[in-house]
Amino acid sequence: MFFLIQKKKEDKKHLKVIGKNGNNDISKHLLKKINCNYHCELKKIYYKNKLWHLLFDDGKLRSFKNLILTCPFPQLKKLSKKFINNSFLRKSIKMDANITTMIAIKKNKNSNSSYLFEDSILGWAGNENSKERFKSKYDLWTLQSTFKWANKKINKNKNNKKENSQIMINKFFKLSNIKKTKIYYSLNHGWRYSSNSRPFKIKSFWDPRKRLGVCADWFVGPRLESGWISAHDLFRKISREIN
Ligand SMILES: Cc1cc2nc3c(=O)[nH]c(=O)nc-3n(C[C@H](O)[C@H](O)[C@H](O)COP(=O)(O)OP(=O)(O)OC[C@H]3O[C@@H](n4cnc5c(N)ncnc54)[C@H](O)[C@@H]3O)c2cc1C
Repeated sequence: MFFLIQKKKEDKKHLKVIGKNGNNDISKHLLKKINCNYHCELKKIYYKNKLWHLLFDDGKLRSFKNLILTCPFPQLKKLSKKFINNSFLRKSIKMDANITTMIAIKKNKNSNSSYLFEDSILGWAGNENSKERFKSKYDLWTLQSTFKWANKKINKNKNNKKENSQIMINKFFKLSNIKKTKIYYSLNHGWRYSSNSRPFKIKSFWDPRKRLGVCADWFVGPRLESGWISAHDLFRKISREIN
């Protein structure tokens, strides 16, 4: 299902897990035998007779013995402040923004699979072809801004997509030393609340009495493994209780 690669040319030498078909391969695999319901917003929760009662936006009410919430911090606060008496919920959180530009350029045999830049605007670039999911006559690159630059630009990014993309593309050619070529395709996407750079003291929350758990990437930090680390921490807390 997955393959592990360790590319020699990378700045960072850690092991990477890359889904064969998509970035969410691992999640899809783990959820295979789990009954999932999508596209329904949880509006309200309440706890009665040792059961969690969940009210959804389609009017359905469902009850469960255990509840794990994993959603952005503002939504969590809204849903659970009556039931969680822990200082983490009283904290405020400042999420960083991220601007990503995807481009298709002429093939270049000698480029890295990714670059980490020490730059104020461009943070990282990844070559999508290196994931070996598809064949393309172009090199497809994902360029990610730094948080600092995105925080400044995000409010007007929707109107300045072309200009912001161009700034990132120019930086990419300059910093990677890849020969400047025609841009065959480009797409800009902005995340206003992409990640939290200031981790909390706890990685997850578990109330064994009410059987209420919370995990999410914002507990841990800005890297993509943060969500997994938080979920694993919650898993450890719950399984310690069972064993
Ligand atoms: C630019 C960018 C690129 C990334 N690239 C990668 C990558 O290549 N690989 C990778 O592994 N990770 C990547 N990540 C990180 C990854 O997106 C996060 O680690 C992951 O999404 C965190 O999962 P989460 O469940 O904690 O939060 P989220 O993914 O934010 O999930 C929270 C969910 O809760 C839902 N929700 C909120 N309120 C309610 C409610 N009331 N009722 C029901 N649902 C609700 C939201 O709709 C959302 O779907 C990237 C992140 C960014 C910003």
